[in-house]
Amino acid sequence: MSAVVTLRDVHKRFGDLEVLKGVSFEVAKGEVVAVIGRSGSGKSTALRCVNRLETIQSGSIEVCGHRVDSPDLNLRALRQDVGMVFQSYNLFPHLTVEQNITLAPRRVRKIRGAEARDLARGALERVGLADKIQAYPEQLSGGQQQRVAIARSLAMNPQVMLFDEVTSALDPHLTGEVLKVMESLARGGMTMIVVTHEMAFARRVASRIVFMHLGKVWETGPGEMLTAPRTEELRDFLSNEL
Ligand code: ADP
Ligand code: MG
Repeated sequence: MSAVVTLRDVHKRFGDLEVLKGVSFEVAKGEVVAVIGRSGSGKSTALRCVNRLETIQSGSIEVCGHRVDSPDLNLRALRQDVGMVFQSYNLFPHLTVEQNITLAPRRVRKIRGAEARDLARGALERVGLADKIQAYPEQLSGGQQQRVAIARSLAMNPQVMLFDEVTSALDPHLTGEVLKVMESLARGGMTMIVVTHEMAFARRVASRIVFMHLGKVWETGPGEMLTAPRTEELRDFLSNEL
């Protein structure tokens, strides 16, 4: 089994507050892991540790062969392998969709002109927005802007994608189009960790669910665990989500 992401006994503290209390899980190539749990349970922190947006106190994290917890980590190489999409899409308002998408590749890979345009178009096709390449963010709906943010990540050709509640800021009628894009990425074999409150999506798309509670992986299993929770805590969580 080739694990793309491995967390082993990860502990993370903010001052006196221990937020991750020995978190362990693995994500194999092509797997989609949905991370669910109450607000404050440590989901975002765990994801941010994977991308070294946070450092950890103990344990180990390995991502695409990078020892993320090592002082020798090549941060740039890690960030090239790991794409991350947040709730707020943070597109530059004064740049076109194409310019937003090609900003990082231009800087990192020194590509220009037609090559940059092809890269943007290819990424936009994967999110169903090839016709918006010359648009400005304000001309797009929230759902379309989030799809552009996903395309921007894809343009870096990541090995794994991290999604942190990417539909939480969207109106319900715009949520579906973003989830559809994520589902098609998953079907295409992308390795993904998805923090989400969309339980139907988690059940349908995820290879595995990780339920976090009080900074721990409380329960983990296939999608069916959502219909047959083993712990009181997961049962409570699910009854409040529905
Ligand atoms: P979730 O994403 O599951 O809602 P988070 O990982 O965002 O949870 O937060 C877990 C806990 O860590 C919360 O109690 C939160 O207040 C705390 N926390 C998160 N980030 C920081 C930070 N930068 N400084 C201090 N506390 C933080
Ligand atoms: Mg969060």
